[in-house]
Amino acid sequence: MKGADGVDTGLEDDLSVESWLVAAGRERQAGAPLNTPMIPASNFVLGAERVYARNEGVPGWQALEEILGGLEGGTAVSFASGMAAVAAVFEQIPADGLVALPIDCYQGVVALAEAGKGRRGWRIERVAVTDTAGWVRMCGVADLIWLESPSNPLLEVADLDRICAAPRKAGSILGVDNTFATPINQRPLELGADVSVHSASKFIGGHSDLLCGAVIARDGALSADLFRARVLAGATPGTLEAFLATRGLRTLALRLERAQTNAGALAERLVNHPKVSCVRYPGLKSHPTHAAAKRQLKGYGTIISFDVKGEAGDADGFCRRLKLIQHATSLGAVESTMERRASHRGQEHLPATLLRLSVGIEAIEDLWTDLEQALGGIVLE
Ligand SMILES: *Cc1c(COP(=O)(O)O)cnc(C)c1O
Repeated sequence: MKGADGVDTGLEDDLSVESWLVAAGRERQAGAPLNTPMIPASNFVLGAERVYARNEGVPGWQALEEILGGLEGGTAVSFASGMAAVAAVFEQIPADGLVALPIDCYQGVVALAEAGKGRRGWRIERVAVTDTAGWVRMCGVADLIWLESPSNPLLEVADLDRICAAPRKAGSILGVDNTFATPINQRPLELGADVSVHSASKFIGGHSDLLCGAVIARDGALSADLFRARVLAGATPGTLEAFLATRGLRTLALRLERAQTNAGALAERLVNHPKVSCVRYPGLKSHPTHAAAKRQLKGYGTIISFDVKGEAGDADGFCRRLKLIQHATSLGAVESTMERRASHRGQEHLPATLLRLSVGIEAIEDLWTDLEQALGGIVLE
Protein backbone atom coordinates (compact mmCIF):
# COMPACT_ATOMS: atom_id res chain seq x y z
CA MET A 1 0.00 0.00 0.00
CA LYS A 2 1.28 3.43 -0.94
CA GLY A 3 0.88 6.35 1.46
CA ALA A 4 -0.99 9.51 0.51
CA ASP A 5 2.34 11.01 -0.58
CA GLY A 6 3.15 8.06 -2.84
CA VAL A 7 5.74 6.58 -0.45
CA ASP A 8 5.41 2.82 0.08
CA THR A 9 4.05 1.97 3.53
CA GLY A 10 5.23 -1.62 3.42
CA LEU A 11 1.65 -2.74 4.16
CA GLU A 12 -0.15 -5.26 1.97
CA ASP A 13 -3.06 -3.99 -0.16
CA ASP A 14 -5.31 -6.76 1.14
CA LEU A 15 -5.43 -5.49 4.71
CA SER A 16 -8.70 -6.24 6.47
CA VAL A 17 -11.32 -3.53 6.06
CA GLU A 18 -11.06 -2.42 9.69
CA SER A 19 -7.30 -1.87 9.37
CA TRP A 20 -7.56 -0.26 5.92
CA LEU A 21 -10.03 2.31 7.28
CA VAL A 22 -7.51 3.31 9.92
CA ALA A 23 -4.27 3.07 7.92
CA ALA A 24 -5.09 4.29 4.41
CA GLY A 25 -4.87 7.87 3.17
CA ARG A 26 -1.95 8.88 5.38
CA GLU A 27 1.40 10.34 4.42
CA ARG A 28 4.48 8.33 5.17
CA GLN A 29 7.50 10.62 5.03
CA ALA A 30 9.36 11.49 8.24
CA GLY A 31 7.80 14.53 9.86
CA ALA A 32 4.53 14.29 7.89
CA PRO A 33 1.37 14.87 9.91
CA LEU A 34 -0.57 11.65 10.59
CA ASN A 35 -3.75 13.30 9.35
CA THR A 36 -3.82 15.12 6.02
CA PRO A 37 -4.21 18.75 7.10
CA MET A 38 -7.02 20.92 5.86
CA ILE A 39 -5.65 23.34 3.32
CA PRO A 40 -7.99 26.30 3.02
CA ALA A 41 -6.64 27.46 -0.33
CA SER A 42 -8.30 27.88 -3.70
CA ASN A 43 -5.08 28.63 -5.60
CA PHE A 44 -1.43 27.70 -5.53
CA VAL A 45 1.82 29.31 -6.68
CA LEU A 46 2.20 28.55 -10.38
CA GLY A 47 4.89 26.24 -11.68
CA ALA A 48 3.76 22.91 -10.18
CA GLU A 49 0.96 20.47 -10.89
CA ARG A 50 -1.54 22.01 -8.49
CA VAL A 51 -2.89 25.29 -9.83
CA TYR A 52 -6.49 25.81 -8.75
CA ALA A 53 -8.36 23.67 -6.20
CA ARG A 54 -11.47 23.05 -8.31
CA ASN A 55 -9.36 21.56 -11.10
CA GLU A 56 -6.64 19.53 -9.40
CA GLY A 57 -8.21 19.07 -5.97
CA VAL A 58 -6.52 19.46 -2.60
CA PRO A 59 -4.69 16.76 -0.60
CA GLY A 60 -7.61 16.33 1.82
CA TRP A 61 -9.98 15.20 -0.94
CA GLN A 62 -7.39 12.82 -2.24
CA ALA A 63 -6.93 11.18 1.16
CA LEU A 64 -10.68 10.55 1.34
CA GLU A 65 -10.72 9.22 -2.23
CA GLU A 66 -7.81 6.92 -1.58
CA ILE A 67 -9.51 5.30 1.40
CA LEU A 68 -12.84 4.86 -0.43
CA GLY A 69 -11.31 3.70 -3.70
CA GLY A 70 -9.20 1.09 -1.94
CA LEU A 71 -12.18 -0.11 0.09
CA GLU A 72 -14.41 -0.76 -2.89
CA GLY A 73 -11.83 -1.67 -5.51
CA GLY A 74 -11.94 1.29 -7.88
CA THR A 75 -11.10 4.95 -8.27
CA ALA A 76 -13.08 7.33 -6.09
CA VAL A 77 -14.07 10.90 -6.92
CA SER A 78 -15.43 12.93 -4.00
CA PHE A 79 -18.23 15.45 -4.38
CA ALA A 80 -20.00 18.24 -2.53
CA SER A 81 -22.86 15.94 -1.50
CA GLY A 82 -24.38 12.58 -2.26
CA MET A 83 -26.69 14.21 -4.81
CA ALA A 84 -23.73 15.90 -6.52
CA ALA A 85 -22.15 12.45 -6.82
CA VAL A 86 -25.39 10.97 -8.22
CA ALA A 87 -25.76 13.91 -10.63
CA ALA A 88 -22.25 13.32 -12.03
CA VAL A 89 -23.25 9.75 -12.90
CA PHE A 90 -26.58 10.85 -14.42
CA GLU A 91 -24.64 13.45 -16.43
CA GLN A 92 -23.24 10.52 -18.43
CA ILE A 93 -26.70 9.56 -19.76
CA PRO A 94 -27.09 10.52 -23.43
CA ALA A 95 -30.00 12.70 -24.61
CA ASP A 96 -33.13 10.57 -25.06
CA GLY A 97 -31.44 7.80 -23.07
CA LEU A 98 -33.30 5.15 -21.12
CA VAL A 99 -32.92 5.13 -17.31
CA ALA A 100 -34.01 2.22 -15.13
CA LEU A 101 -34.84 3.28 -11.58
CA PRO A 102 -36.10 1.28 -8.61
CA ILE A 103 -39.69 1.87 -7.52
CA ASP A 104 -38.43 2.20 -3.95
CA CYS A 105 -35.71 4.81 -4.39
CA TYR A 106 -34.19 7.85 -2.69
CA GLN A 107 -36.55 10.72 -3.48
CA GLY A 108 -33.80 13.11 -4.61
CA VAL A 109 -32.67 10.66 -7.28
CA VAL A 110 -36.22 10.26 -8.58
CA ALA A 111 -36.53 14.06 -8.78
CA LEU A 112 -33.23 14.33 -10.65
CA ALA A 113 -34.32 11.70 -13.20
CA GLU A 114 -37.71 13.38 -13.62
CA ALA A 115 -35.99 16.72 -14.32
CA GLY A 116 -33.95 15.08 -17.08
CA LYS A 117 -37.13 13.74 -18.67
CA GLY A 118 -38.24 17.16 -19.80
CA ARG A 119 -34.87 18.76 -20.40
CA ARG A 120 -32.98 15.89 -21.99
CA GLY A 121 -35.67 13.59 -23.21
CA TRP A 122 -34.70 10.76 -20.86
CA ARG A 123 -37.15 7.90 -20.68
CA ILE A 124 -37.61 6.47 -17.22
CA GLU A 125 -38.59 2.92 -16.44
CA ARG A 126 -39.37 2.08 -12.80
CA VAL A 127 -38.62 -1.48 -11.74
CA ALA A 128 -39.41 -3.16 -8.42
CA VAL A 129 -36.23 -3.84 -6.46
CA THR A 130 -37.27 -7.49 -6.21
CA ASP A 131 -38.05 -7.91 -9.94
CA THR A 132 -34.75 -9.51 -10.92
CA ALA A 133 -36.02 -10.53 -14.38
CA GLY A 134 -37.09 -6.91 -14.96
CA TRP A 135 -33.62 -5.65 -14.06
CA VAL A 136 -31.92 -8.23 -16.23
CA ARG A 137 -34.11 -7.08 -19.13
CA MET A 138 -33.19 -3.44 -18.41
CA CYS A 139 -29.49 -4.33 -18.46
CA GLY A 140 -29.84 -5.14 -22.14
CA VAL A 141 -31.60 -1.93 -23.17
CA ALA A 142 -31.09 0.90 -20.63
CA ASP A 143 -28.30 3.49 -20.74
CA LEU A 144 -28.25 3.77 -16.97
CA ILE A 145 -29.31 0.93 -14.69
CA TRP A 146 -29.63 2.52 -11.24
CA LEU A 147 -30.01 0.30 -8.22
CA GLU A 148 -30.36 1.10 -4.57
CA SER A 149 -29.82 -1.82 -2.24
CA PRO A 150 -30.95 -1.96 0.50
CA SER A 151 -33.55 0.50 -0.75
CA ASN A 152 -34.96 3.56 0.96
CA PRO A 153 -37.16 3.27 2.95
CA LEU A 154 -38.46 -0.29 2.44
CA LEU A 155 -35.01 -1.89 2.82
CA GLU A 156 -35.49 -4.28 -0.08
CA VAL A 157 -32.30 -6.00 -1.19
CA ALA A 158 -31.84 -6.54 -4.93
CA ASP A 159 -30.33 -9.69 -6.42
CA LEU A 160 -27.27 -7.60 -7.23
CA ASP A 161 -25.09 -10.62 -7.97
CA ARG A 162 -27.48 -11.82 -10.69
CA ILE A 163 -28.31 -8.38 -12.05
CA CYS A 164 -24.66 -7.30 -12.26
CA ALA A 165 -23.79 -10.51 -14.13
CA ALA A 166 -26.45 -9.97 -16.83
CA PRO A 167 -25.28 -8.86 -20.31
CA ARG A 168 -25.43 -5.08 -20.65
CA LYS A 169 -26.07 -2.69 -23.49
CA ALA A 170 -22.77 -1.36 -24.87
CA GLY A 171 -21.79 1.93 -23.28
CA SER A 172 -24.35 1.63 -20.49
CA ILE A 173 -23.59 2.21 -16.81
CA LEU A 174 -24.81 0.05 -13.94
CA GLY A 175 -24.71 2.11 -10.74
CA VAL A 176 -25.49 1.10 -7.19
CA ASP A 177 -26.36 3.59 -4.47
CA ASN A 178 -24.40 1.91 -1.69
CA THR A 179 -25.23 4.49 0.99
CA PHE A 180 -27.37 2.19 3.15
CA ALA A 181 -25.01 -0.77 2.91
CA THR A 182 -21.74 1.15 3.45
CA PRO A 183 -18.50 -0.12 1.88
CA ILE A 184 -18.23 -2.53 4.80
CA ASN A 185 -21.42 -4.49 4.17
CA GLN A 186 -21.40 -4.44 0.37
CA ARG A 187 -18.92 -3.80 -2.44
CA PRO A 188 -20.90 -3.50 -5.68
CA LEU A 189 -17.85 -3.23 -7.96
CA GLU A 190 -16.78 -6.71 -6.88
CA LEU A 191 -20.20 -7.98 -7.98
CA GLY A 192 -19.77 -6.38 -11.40
CA ALA A 193 -21.32 -2.91 -11.05
CA ASP A 194 -19.64 -0.03 -12.89
CA VAL A 195 -20.03 2.53 -10.14
CA SER A 196 -20.82 2.57 -6.43
CA VAL A 197 -22.18 5.83 -5.05
CA HIS A 198 -22.28 7.14 -1.49
CA SER A 199 -23.86 9.95 0.36
CA ALA A 200 -20.94 10.47 2.75
CA SER A 201 -23.32 12.72 4.71
CA LYS A 202 -24.65 9.49 6.24
CA PHE A 203 -22.55 6.59 7.59
CA ILE A 204 -19.17 7.74 6.27
CA GLY A 205 -19.33 11.08 8.07
CA GLY A 206 -21.41 9.46 10.78
CA HIS A 207 -22.13 12.52 12.93
CA SER A 208 -24.81 14.50 11.04
CA ASP A 209 -22.36 17.37 10.67
CA LEU A 210 -21.48 17.45 6.98
CA LEU A 211 -22.61 17.09 3.37
CA CYS A 212 -20.29 15.10 1.13
CA GLY A 213 -20.52 12.36 -1.49
CA ALA A 214 -18.42 10.04 -3.61
CA VAL A 215 -18.53 7.84 -6.69
CA ILE A 216 -16.20 4.88 -7.00
CA ALA A 217 -15.74 3.60 -10.56
CA ARG A 218 -14.05 0.42 -11.72
CA ASP A 219 -13.10 1.73 -15.15
CA GLY A 220 -10.40 4.38 -15.49
CA ALA A 221 -12.06 6.15 -18.43
CA LEU A 222 -15.36 6.40 -16.54
CA SER A 223 -13.67 7.75 -13.41
CA ALA A 224 -11.94 10.35 -15.61
CA ASP A 225 -15.36 11.35 -16.99
CA LEU A 226 -16.72 11.66 -13.45
CA PHE A 227 -13.73 13.75 -12.42
CA ARG A 228 -14.37 15.97 -15.43
CA ALA A 229 -18.04 16.28 -14.48
CA ARG A 230 -16.95 17.52 -11.05
CA VAL A 231 -14.59 20.09 -12.55
CA LEU A 232 -17.24 21.29 -15.01
CA ALA A 233 -20.05 21.61 -12.49
CA GLY A 234 -17.74 22.69 -9.67
CA ALA A 235 -19.42 20.23 -7.30
CA THR A 236 -16.30 19.91 -5.16
CA PRO A 237 -16.32 18.87 -1.51
CA GLY A 238 -15.56 21.48 1.11
CA THR A 239 -12.16 21.30 2.75
CA LEU A 240 -13.66 20.86 6.21
CA GLU A 241 -16.21 18.34 4.97
CA ALA A 242 -13.58 16.13 3.33
CA PHE A 243 -11.54 16.26 6.53
CA LEU A 244 -14.54 15.29 8.65
CA ALA A 245 -15.61 12.53 6.24
CA THR A 246 -12.08 11.08 6.39
CA ARG A 247 -12.14 11.28 10.16
CA GLY A 248 -15.54 9.58 10.13
CA LEU A 249 -14.15 6.70 8.07
CA ARG A 250 -11.58 5.94 10.75
CA THR A 251 -14.34 4.78 13.11
CA LEU A 252 -16.84 3.48 10.53
CA ALA A 253 -16.27 -0.20 11.34
CA LEU A 254 -16.70 0.31 15.08
CA ARG A 255 -19.77 2.51 14.72
CA LEU A 256 -21.41 0.16 12.26
CA GLU A 257 -20.71 -2.90 14.37
CA ARG A 258 -22.30 -1.37 17.45
CA ALA A 259 -25.27 0.22 15.66
CA GLN A 260 -25.93 -2.96 13.71
CA THR A 261 -26.01 -5.07 16.86
CA ASN A 262 -28.46 -2.58 18.34
CA ALA A 263 -30.61 -2.63 15.20
CA GLY A 264 -30.79 -6.43 15.06
CA ALA A 265 -31.93 -6.59 18.69
CA LEU A 266 -34.47 -3.76 18.31
CA ALA A 267 -35.95 -5.30 15.16
CA GLU A 268 -36.58 -8.58 17.02
CA ARG A 269 -38.21 -6.75 19.92
CA LEU A 270 -40.35 -4.53 17.69
CA VAL A 271 -41.77 -7.60 15.93
CA ASN A 272 -43.27 -8.72 19.23
CA HIS A 273 -44.62 -5.34 20.33
CA PRO A 274 -48.44 -5.15 20.36
CA LYS A 275 -48.53 -1.60 18.93
CA VAL A 276 -46.27 -2.44 15.96
CA SER A 277 -47.70 -4.03 12.83
CA CYS A 278 -44.99 -4.58 10.24
CA VAL A 279 -41.23 -4.59 10.78
CA ARG A 280 -38.91 -4.41 7.79
CA TYR A 281 -35.29 -5.28 8.55
CA PRO A 282 -33.18 -7.33 6.14
CA GLY A 283 -31.91 -9.49 8.99
CA LEU A 284 -35.40 -10.73 9.93
CA LYS A 285 -36.37 -14.09 8.42
CA SER A 286 -39.81 -12.57 7.72
CA HIS A 287 -38.27 -9.82 5.54
CA PRO A 288 -39.29 -10.23 1.87
CA THR A 289 -35.68 -10.11 0.66
CA HIS A 290 -33.98 -11.81 3.59
CA ALA A 291 -32.45 -14.45 1.30
CA ALA A 292 -30.79 -11.88 -0.97
CA ALA A 293 -29.62 -9.93 2.08
CA LYS A 294 -28.09 -13.05 3.59
CA ARG A 295 -26.29 -13.80 0.35
CA GLN A 296 -25.01 -10.35 -0.39
CA LEU A 297 -24.65 -8.25 2.71
CA LYS A 298 -21.94 -8.76 5.28
CA GLY A 299 -24.21 -7.22 7.90
CA TYR A 300 -27.88 -6.24 7.82
CA GLY A 301 -27.39 -2.55 8.49
CA THR A 302 -28.73 -0.12 11.04
CA ILE A 303 -32.02 1.01 9.50
CA ILE A 304 -35.38 -0.45 10.50
CA SER A 305 -38.69 0.53 8.91
CA PHE A 306 -41.88 -0.36 10.70
CA ASP A 307 -45.52 0.58 11.00
CA VAL A 308 -47.35 1.38 14.16
CA LYS A 309 -50.96 0.36 14.51
CA GLY A 310 -53.40 3.21 14.20
CA GLU A 311 -53.19 6.17 11.88
CA ALA A 312 -50.74 8.85 10.77
CA GLY A 313 -51.57 10.92 13.85
CA ASP A 314 -50.62 8.00 16.11
CA ALA A 315 -47.28 7.65 14.32
CA ASP A 316 -46.64 11.40 14.65
CA GLY A 317 -47.49 11.33 18.35
CA PHE A 318 -45.11 8.39 18.81
CA CYS A 319 -42.28 10.39 17.18
CA ARG A 320 -42.99 13.44 19.32
CA ARG A 321 -42.87 11.43 22.56
CA LEU A 322 -39.33 10.15 21.89
CA LYS A 323 -36.71 11.52 24.26
CA LEU A 324 -33.39 9.83 23.48
CA ILE A 325 -34.08 9.06 19.82
CA GLN A 326 -34.07 12.27 17.80
CA HIS A 327 -37.19 13.11 15.83
CA ALA A 328 -35.28 13.95 12.66
CA THR A 329 -34.69 12.89 9.10
CA SER A 330 -31.48 11.41 7.69
CA LEU A 331 -29.61 8.40 8.95
CA GLY A 332 -26.30 6.72 9.57
CA ALA A 333 -25.13 8.83 12.48
CA VAL A 334 -24.02 8.02 16.01
CA GLU A 335 -27.36 9.27 17.32
CA SER A 336 -30.57 7.37 16.59
CA THR A 337 -33.12 9.24 14.49
CA MET A 338 -36.68 8.45 13.53
CA GLU A 339 -39.34 10.01 11.36
CA ARG A 340 -42.60 9.24 9.59
CA ARG A 341 -41.58 9.08 5.95
CA ALA A 342 -44.97 9.89 4.43
CA SER A 343 -44.91 13.25 6.23
CA HIS A 344 -42.49 14.45 3.52
CA ARG A 345 -43.71 15.83 0.22
CA GLY A 346 -43.26 13.30 -2.58
CA GLN A 347 -43.46 10.37 -0.15
CA GLU A 348 -47.25 10.16 0.03
CA HIS A 349 -47.18 6.80 -1.79
CA LEU A 350 -45.73 5.17 1.33
CA PRO A 351 -47.90 3.69 4.09
CA ALA A 352 -49.05 6.60 6.27
CA THR A 353 -47.80 4.97 9.48
CA LEU A 354 -44.39 3.89 8.15
CA LEU A 355 -41.54 4.98 10.40
CA ARG A 356 -37.89 4.84 9.51
CA LEU A 357 -35.57 4.36 12.45
CA SER A 358 -31.84 4.84 11.99
CA VAL A 359 -30.26 3.11 14.95
CA GLY A 360 -27.21 4.74 16.51
CA ILE A 361 -24.59 3.65 19.00
CA GLU A 362 -26.44 4.39 22.24
CA ALA A 363 -26.95 1.65 24.84
CA ILE A 364 -29.54 -0.82 23.60
CA GLU A 365 -31.63 -0.81 26.80
CA ASP A 366 -31.90 2.99 26.75
CA LEU A 367 -33.09 2.86 23.13
CA TRP A 368 -35.64 0.19 23.95
CA THR A 369 -36.87 2.08 27.02
CA ASP A 370 -37.42 5.14 24.83
CA LEU A 371 -39.26 3.20 22.11
CA GLU A 372 -41.42 1.42 24.68
CA GLN A 373 -42.45 4.57 26.52
CA ALA A 374 -43.26 6.35 23.25
CA LEU A 375 -45.16 3.33 21.87
CA GLY A 376 -47.02 3.05 25.17
CA GLY A 377 -48.65 6.40 24.48
CA ILE A 378 -50.46 5.07 21.41
CA VAL A 379 -54.09 4.48 22.38
CA LEU A 380 -55.89 2.09 20.05
CA GLU A 381 -59.67 2.06 19.78
C1 LIG B 1 -28.98 10.95 1.59
C2 LIG B 1 -28.96 10.07 0.43
C3 LIG B 1 -28.61 10.55 -0.84
C4 LIG B 1 -28.27 12.00 -1.10
O1 LIG B 1 -27.13 12.40 -0.39
P1 LIG B 1 -26.88 13.92 0.12
O2 LIG B 1 -25.53 13.83 0.74
O3 LIG B 1 -27.97 14.24 1.09
O4 LIG B 1 -26.92 14.79 -1.07
C5 LIG B 1 -28.62 9.65 -1.89
N1 LIG B 1 -28.96 8.36 -1.70
C6 LIG B 1 -29.32 7.86 -0.51
C7 LIG B 1 -29.69 6.43 -0.38
C8 LIG B 1 -29.33 8.70 0.60
O5 LIG B 1 -29.70 8.21 1.79
